[in-house]
Amino acid sequence: MARDTGPVCKQCRRENAKLHLKGERCFSPKCAFERKGYPPGQHGLNRRFKQSNYGIQLREKQKIRRMYGLYERQFRNTYKKASAEKGVTGENMLVKLESRFEVVIYRLGMASSLRAARQLVSHGHFEINGRKVDIPSYILRPGDVVRVRESARKLEIIHDAMRRLHQDRIVPYLSLDKARMEGTYVSRPKREEIPVTANEQLVVELYSR
Ligand code: SF4
Repeated sequence: MARDTGPVCKQCRRENAKLHLKGERCFSPKCAFERKGYPPGQHGLNRRFKQSNYGIQLREKQKIRRMYGLYERQFRNTYKKASAEKGVTGENMLVKLESRFEVVIYRLGMASSLRAARQLVSHGHFEINGRKVDIPSYILRPGDVVRVRESARKLEIIHDAMRRLHQDRIVPYLSLDKARMEGTYVSRPKREEIPVTANEQLVVELYSR
């Protein structure tokens, strides 16, 4: 299954949840989910059917996968690696997703959306511990410091995103130094700190079938 390249707001409506894929717009009254909170399509408003267990698990998996903007194969590989580790598989999976370079840049507010973060990272505008890294899927470890590179410090798109960031949106496992345009991946996230409301256990059940 490939990544969706169509209208992103339809993904929120399909999953019946705000996936926050469009930056600031998601927090404004223009949000399509706020205006049309029913599934897209001709029968979206009148859709009435009982979902099977499989259907519920599938929708939850799609919701998390779409939140992080991953291909099915990337997502499943993340799950496989998480299940090979000690601890709770669902939580391990979310921790891995949250440790991706692009996600950390987004959570630090250096990009307005995850898509924008992916593009900025792959264009080489950031460094980790002083070294340029342009791989959005790079996994950070506690103590890693990410910084906007000298050559990108004047980019309006980054300044604009940082200006709009509300301090209360910074997650506890990251710290941000706005003046230096750098952030630290302080510690491994705990489940309750990860701002994802989906039920990851359903993903584990789906992939364990
Ligand atoms: Fe989803 Fe609303 Fe953001 Fe569109 S604007 S991506 S519907 S949260």
